[in-house]
Formats: sequence, structure tokens, C-alpha cells
Amino acid sequence: MKYQVDKNGFYGEFGGAYVPEILYATVKNLQEQYLGIIETEEFKQEYHQLLKDYVGRPSPLYFASRMSEKYGCQLYLKREDLNHTGAHKINNTIGQILLAKKMGKTRIIAETGAGQHGVATATVCALMGMKCEVFMGATDVERQHTNVERMKMLGAEVHPVRTGNMTLSDACSEAIRDWCCHPSDTFYIVGSTMGPHPYPDLVARMQSVISEEIKWQLEEKIGRDYPDYLIACIGGGSNAAGTIYHYMDDERVKIVLAEAGGHGWQTDHTAATIHKGTTGILHGAKMLVMQNEDGQIEEAFTISAGLDYPGVGPMHCNMAKQGRTQILAINDDEAIRGGYELTRMEGIIPAIESAHAIAALEKMKFKKDDVVVLTVSGRGDKDVETYLKNKEMAGEYGNF
Ligand SMILES: *Cc1c(COP(=O)(O)O)cnc(C)c1O
Repeated sequence: MKYQVDKNGFYGEFGGAYVPEILYATVKNLQEQYLGIIETEEFKQEYHQLLKDYVGRPSPLYFASRMSEKYGCQLYLKREDLNHTGAHKINNTIGQILLAKKMGKTRIIAETGAGQHGVATATVCALMGMKCEVFMGATDVERQHTNVERMKMLGAEVHPVRTGNMTLSDACSEAIRDWCCHPSDTFYIVGSTMGPHPYPDLVARMQSVISEEIKWQLEEKIGRDYPDYLIACIGGGSNAAGTIYHYMDDERVKIVLAEAGGHGWQTDHTAATIHKGTTGILHGAKMLVMQNEDGQIEEAFTISAGLDYPGVGPMHCNMAKQGRTQILAINDDEAIRGGYELTRMEGIIPAIESAHAIAALEKMKFKKDDVVVLTVSGRGDKDVETYLKNKEMAGEYGNF
């Protein structure tokens, strides 16, 4: 249990709950109540029923034979791309909206970058008939227009945020600001393993269904319930947390996470927070953040809107620091190539975020019978334009 959150909300030196005074009582109340609610039989029953009938779980664990051949290992893909709304994010929003309802909240707010978490939140709000407001940087509103229209169609109100760089980080700040004004009736559905305690733990638990399924699916397919390697991409860290949750303390399993290198982690155009960041406080938690000497947050750069965040969740900061996880920085061109490769070799167009995990394969050395489970966090429909615009990065796959 050494990588789990402690009773004060910390993962080693990272985490905690650094919130404005006006939110103390609300956050404390959530800290005191969340486990009691999500561990009841009633909650689990409703949550798992919805995951099955509404989200479409369990997501398949697919043996990728051509890619296995190429990389000299036994590669299995955990297909979160097949979930309703196209990514793992819905696992978390289903759980949090059930929690919000049980806590008697009537208004939902969320932040979003690429719009995937906004869509997943708007979706569960429509499902439950609850009022939904989403904060989104004005820059992202422009470049992710389809997701904005989806949210509106689902009945959500989208607030363009015009502070700072007008991207995800600013949207988070604005959501927290709104929460400060409506602490009693509003539930903030956080989209990744970030934010003040208990959010990183809450989100990790909601995503842990991923590794819960991997366990029995591997047992069924290969007669043992653990792989040699787990691979996932990491932005705030939620799909990675879900993928590794039930294996964190199992040292037989090596964990490799791919963060977004952008143009290269040593350049100014990067989102590789674990490589480049230093300890600071952002959006309610102590974690690794990209900042200048004065503690000003620096903008993150990556081709992938879903990984475009200058921080990374506290659980992952601690695990990386303890040496439990190996972190690779995957650059834009490598991710694009990885995305095309999965498309051509297995007929699966992955989200550009997930393509970072695919690209990690090339940087690793496997033995023939190593069992590798790689999470495909989302599907690439939203990224077709990006793939086409950058097909010169795809090598031989770009000649069409
Ligand atoms: C949002 C998103 C991510 C990054 O978020 P995590 O919390 O790190 O998982 C990765 N993949 C997809 C498809 C996403 O939508």
C-alpha cells in the first residue's frame, strides 16, 4: 500500500488540499464522506450497472498479433477507446455524478481542455437530468469546436475562459473560482487525478475498474493475472492510474508511462512535466509543475490537447520519484507515427494522447514471451485532422 494516499491526503511529499478558505468546509466534507458513500453496496451496484449497460464495459483486452510480432512481445491492448463517448473519462464522470447525487448536490461544474472531459460530464448530466456548466479556455473553444457543439447539444452551458493562455490550466482555475462562489449546491467533477485531496484518490478509484478487468481478462487469456509490463500515456494521470491501480505494489509488473514531450522535453515547447517540472502548488495540490524561478506557471506545449497541462497528479509524482514507474517523454512526431502505425497494423485509429503510449514501444527492449498490456485511452475520431495535417511525420505510413 506504499503508493496509496495517506490519511492526510498525501502521496509522499505530494498532494494535500491547498484550497481558498471559503472552500475548506466543502472540501473537508467531501474528504469525510466520499469513501463512506462509494464503498456502499448500493453505490457499487448502481455504478457497475451503468458501466456495463451504459458505458459498454468490460472493455475488451485485445491481443494485437501484428504489433506483437513487430515488437517481439505478447502485446495486449486495453480498449478504453470503445467506451461510450470514446475514452476512459466516462468511467470517472459516472462515478462522480452518482456521488454528487448522494451528497444532495444540484449543480455540476467541470473544466475541460480538448473537450473530452466536458463531453463526458455533459453526458452524465443529461443522463441524470442535472444542470451542467463547463469551463473551457477560449483558445480550446476555437480549436475543439465539435466537442463544444456536443456539450451544448447535451444541454451543458460552456463558458469560454479568457484569462492567461486561455487553455486547460486557466479553465481549471476558473472552475475553482466558480466553486468558491457556490460551495453548497455545486459539485465539481474533476477530470483527472489532480486537484485537492480527495480528488486524486477519488478519480483513481473510479478509473481502477480498468486494472480490475485486466486482472481477470489476463487470467482468462494466459492463465495468470498479471503482465510483465503495463504501458499508458499520462497527462493528469487518470487513465494511467486506472491501468496500474491493482498492480502498484506488485513488483513483478514493470510500469512505463508516456508523457508528452512536444518538440522535446529540453525545449520550451513541451508538456513533459515529470521530466521538466519542479515541486509547486497548482489547482489545490502539491505536485511537479512547469514553472519559472518566480513560480509563475509556464504554458505546456504538445500536439495533443488532452495532455496539454503544466502539472501531473500527485500519485504519479510520488511513484516516479520512488522509481516505481519509468517515465518516457514522447515527442509530437513520434506520437503521430505511433498513431499511424496502430492504424495501419491493427485497424485502430487511437486518440493522439494514446498514440504517445504506442510510441513508447519503440523505445523498449522486450523478451519474446513478455506480456505487455497497453491502454488505448481513447479513439482518434477527434484527431483525424491533426493526423492528416502532420502526415509527413508518419514516415512510410504518410505516403497516401
Ligand atoms: C484526457 C485524455 C487523456 C489524458 O488524461 P489522463 O487523466 O492523464 O488520462 C488521455 N487520453 C485521452 C483519450 C484523453 O481524453
